[in-house]
Amino acid sequence: MKYWPVPDSYSKNIPLNGPGSFAEDRGDRHHSGVDIYASKGSVVVSIEDGIVVAEDIFTTPGKNPYWFMTRFVAIKNGSGQICKYCELEDVSVKRGDKVKGGQVIGHVGSVLDFNNIDQGSPLYIQKMKESGVKSMLHFELYAKGPVVFENYCGGNCFSSGLPDNLLDPTEYLLSIAKSNA
Ligand SMILES: [Zn+2]
Repeated sequence: MKYWPVPDSYSKNIPLNGPGSFAEDRGDRHHSGVDIYASKGSVVVSIEDGIVVAEDIFTTPGKNPYWFMTRFVAIKNGSGQICKYCELEDVSVKRGDKVKGGQVIGHVGSVLDFNNIDQGSPLYIQKMKESGVKSMLHFELYAKGPVVFENYCGGNCFSSGLPDNLLDPTEYLLSIAKSNA
C-alpha cells in the first residue's frame, strides 16, 4: 500500500506539462520535481515505509527575496528509491527515523512571498503570482542519493541536464493516485 502524500491536495492530478511539471523549462533552469497544490498547513504523509536520510532548509528569503523559509525531508523507501518532500513549513521527523507509509512527516508551507515578486523576478515566478498559487508540495524522486547538488536550488537545476539519479516521478505518483482514488 502506498499513500498519496497530501491527503487534502486540491486534486490528485499531476501537472504533465507546463507549470509544475517534471523538467519544466524555466529559461535558465529546469524544474526538478512535480508540484502538488494544496493549502498551507495541509498534512504531508510518507508514501511508503522508509528511513529518513536527510532533512534541512529548502528555501530561504536570504537566497531569494520572493521565498519564505521552507524545509525538506528525504525518505529512503524499501525499494532503495528516495522520496524528497519539499516546501514544508515544518517537518516532524528527523534523520535516522524509521517512518511508516501514511505517517505524518510535516505540513505544506507557503513558499512564495507575493509581496516580494516584481518584474525583476523570474517569469515563471511572476506567472505563479498571477495564478495565485503560493503553497504546494514540491516532490522529487531519486534512484539513489545524493539528494542535494551543485547547480541546484529550490527545486530547480541550473545545469543544462538533470542529475543522473533524479527520476521523473510522474508515473510513480499517477499509480498512487489511481490506487488511492
Ligand atoms: Zn516545484
